[in-house]
Amino acid sequence: MNIPLKNNDSAELKALDLAHHLPAQADYALLEQLGGSRIITHAEGCVITDIDGKSLLDGMAGLWCVNVGYGRSELAEAAYKQMLELPYYNTFFKTATAPAVRLAAKIAEKMVLGNPDLKHVFFNSSGSEANDTVFRLVRHYWTLEGEPERQVFISRRNAYHGSTVAGASLGGMTFMHAQGGLPIPGIEHVRQPYLFGEGFGQDPDAFADACVQDIEDRILSVGPDKVAAFIGEPVQGAGGVVIPPESYWPKVEALCRKYGILLICDEVICGFGRLGQWFGHQHYGVKPDVIAMAKGLSSGYLPISAVGVSSQIVEVLKTGGDFVHGYTYSGHPAACAVALANIGIIEREGLIERTREVTGPYLAQALKRLDGHPLVGEARSIGLLGAVEIVAEMGTNTRFKGAEGHAGPVVRDICIKNGLMVRGIRDTIVMCPPLIITEGEIDRIVEILEASLTEAEPVLRAL
Ligand SMILES: *Cc1c(COP(=O)(O)O)cnc(C)c1O
Repeated sequence: MNIPLKNNDSAELKALDLAHHLPAQADYALLEQLGGSRIITHAEGCVITDIDGKSLLDGMAGLWCVNVGYGRSELAEAAYKQMLELPYYNTFFKTATAPAVRLAAKIAEKMVLGNPDLKHVFFNSSGSEANDTVFRLVRHYWTLEGEPERQVFISRRNAYHGSTVAGASLGGMTFMHAQGGLPIPGIEHVRQPYLFGEGFGQDPDAFADACVQDIEDRILSVGPDKVAAFIGEPVQGAGGVVIPPESYWPKVEALCRKYGILLICDEVICGFGRLGQWFGHQHYGVKPDVIAMAKGLSSGYLPISAVGVSSQIVEVLKTGGDFVHGYTYSGHPAACAVALANIGIIEREGLIERTREVTGPYLAQALKRLDGHPLVGEARSIGLLGAVEIVAEMGTNTRFKGAEGHAGPVVRDICIKNGLMVRGIRDTIVMCPPLIITEGEIDRIVEILEASLTEAEPVLRAL
């Protein structure tokens, strides 16, 4: 693909960006100092290119979402065809569209692989909206069930469930709560299963037990008959690719069953192949009652999200008249058509199996090469989600200057300069490449990471 650029495009767009555009999750004063955002103009496969002609290997699949990679004309054609036929119709008031219905059935086909009761789908346009839907639907369910006291959600500290009022409240990021007077009432945050950060050197199963005990203690202190649900990402993504010990999720599930609490998995990142299964909970062998999905559902080509709901819950909803919830764009036909085509690509190209059997294990192996680096405390991965912990002393969890947050941005910026787009979350460099990534590209990711860590070392030692 060849996109001709005018010489002044870059300067002009950066100036307009600073003058008029407020980018998401950004420090506007810092952007001003930097002279504006990096403007991405085009992309192909696993490579993105900016307006100044710099190409980067996209180690983040956009924002954890471009699972089938860039440049898929099939997805553009699906949108084009649908927009000519029926660009829009809603799903309010006893109407639906063919792509929405077909996509719901297709998602159900994948959900029942893990939980045969998970067969129903409610559409939204973003992960945050999906979690808002979850929040209202679950509370409404308990009221109809005759247990209106069950309104409390238990979530984890450092979880990410979105940026809307309910999403950010369910999330466990205190710096997000600080803006806007969050969390809203009725949400309790418990320990996260972050072994490197909070259980360093401990036996993983004993650490999982301690995390699960914290959930049980909270259930008991809130009152078991007041807890509606437990919500968690199978693997916390934006929290820093926090991979729980394998025994964690089955124990959480058993605890939910013990107290009659609903189990909700936020599959916004883990869904659609990231962990080598259609959904992350299928990797851990647990059966949630409700799941949220977005990102990989359409590989980010159009905004769409969905909430998967069990038949048991839907039967109860049927006793309550209208579920007075929904968005203008719930089940948007073009977005649904693109999601269907996207799932078609994942199936046809065997991207789930490839992640599970080929590229996931290859990434794990490649990351081992970083274990001997003086700045690496741990390199870990599951499927095609990876993380590298930057520390001041190899093999420890001692951070630079004794606190988190100094090293991450430095290493991240050097990686980007060296041609790799990654994210630095505190002092954790995270990776989430497109599922089409090749072994050669994985090697390249690890090479750039290693060289960038080495380049960062003198900078960090001089802090
Ligand atoms: C990205 C994300 C969300 C929010 O999705 P948006 O589309 O940005 O609203 C929710 N949950 C998880 C786990 C996410 O990673």
